[in-house]
Amino acid sequence: MRLFSLYRSFVMMLLLNVAFSLGAETIFYDVVVIGLGPGGVEAGARTASAGLKTLIVGRERGGQLSAASQPVQNVFAVSPKPGAAIMSDAIRQAEDFGAEICEGTVTNISFSWSPYLVEIDGFKKIYARALVVATGSHPRRLSVPGEEEYWGRGVSACALCDAFFYRDATVAVVGGGDAAVDEAIHLAHYAKRVVVLVRGGRMRAQRFMQEKLKQYSQIELRYGEEVEEILGNDNFVTALRLRNNKTGDRTLEKFDGLFLAIGHEPNNELLRGVLELDQRGFVRVHDGSTEVIGYPGVFATGEIMGLQRRQVNVVVGVATQTGLEVNDYLSFGISRNQIPK
Ligand SMILES: Cc1cc2nc3c(=O)[nH]c(=O)nc-3n(C[C@H](O)[C@H](O)[C@H](O)COP(=O)(O)OP(=O)(O)OC[C@H]3O[C@@H](n4cnc5c(N)ncnc54)[C@H](O)[C@@H]3O)c2cc1C
Repeated sequence: MRLFSLYRSFVMMLLLNVAFSLGAETIFYDVVVIGLGPGGVEAGARTASAGLKTLIVGRERGGQLSAASQPVQNVFAVSPKPGAAIMSDAIRQAEDFGAEICEGTVTNISFSWSPYLVEIDGFKKIYARALVVATGSHPRRLSVPGEEEYWGRGVSACALCDAFFYRDATVAVVGGGDAAVDEAIHLAHYAKRVVVLVRGGRMRAQRFMQEKLKQYSQIELRYGEEVEEILGNDNFVTALRLRNNKTGDRTLEKFDGLFLAIGHEPNNELLRGVLELDQRGFVRVHDGSTEVIGYPGVFATGEIMGLQRRQVNVVVGVATQTGLEVNDYLSFGISRNQIPK
């Protein structure tokens, strides 16, 4: 079966090479990277700089970082500037190395055999000897009025990124797990008051995390309270309408910001039922590597790996590793999946 699969790959490559030599449209790349966020762009820049023919395709130029309206303060060697500007520099750098950029949605990937087939916007077909899945994740939302309008303007899912802008402010954190504690403590170094809104009757955070909260007099815990509406002055958040889910009482309270710590969801619609995913739906890779289990030449990078710390520097560090591993695979045949599927 494996021999047949190898034979099929070989014939495919041969046919594609014949097509190219006859002048057909170039649809063959060494590497196709899916995702135009920091992870995808960095991985693509590394493979392109290694001389590999690279296409980076994504539906949003810059990924999540482009949504950061406040100047981004914590990216290595970059002075504070908007996320979109950082990503435009990163994309330009990748292009300078020779990477091609395509704005579009990958609608299908055939992982059956190499070269892998990638379909963009439902019609464009691209073949790749190696794939990098860098489709990222998105914060789980509350789906309440005002959330979309004030996203990035008072509503955030990243205290590490945005706490700096809330000096002496009053902010709320929604969530009851470790992430909520983390967010609250980070905010407490800047804000004068941090209210943690826990939907249930108790926190799910580990005990030692809950103990840590007690060291901060400016952090207040409230149980059974939910955000019903986010209000603002068209520019920024100014208040929250809260509802007590036991009594049904509603209150309107002044807040300068709202931080969501209710989890992140992987952008894995293309991968479900095919690649090995963990319980939360993030892609599983080999220990110490970014190569996807069971698929030689398929790599995952950035937040789609379920990184603990969702920060650009972390993502870009992992993506650099991915770029190097792709090069090792394509140039030297080094794979953690030694036996082809
Ligand atoms: C508002 C905001 C502010 C932030 N501020 C900071 C900060 O100040 N400092 C910091 O370090 N971090 C910050 N972050 C976090 C940082 O942006 C993320 O850690 C980083 O963007 C993750 O990179 P990624 O490449 O893994 O994924 P993403 O940035 O999520 O990029 C993945 C891309 O893949 C695309 N994609 C998914 N599926 C497909 C498909 N089928 N076809 C094509 N494309 C697809 C997605 O649309 C997305 O554009 C912030 C995040 C947000 C949301």
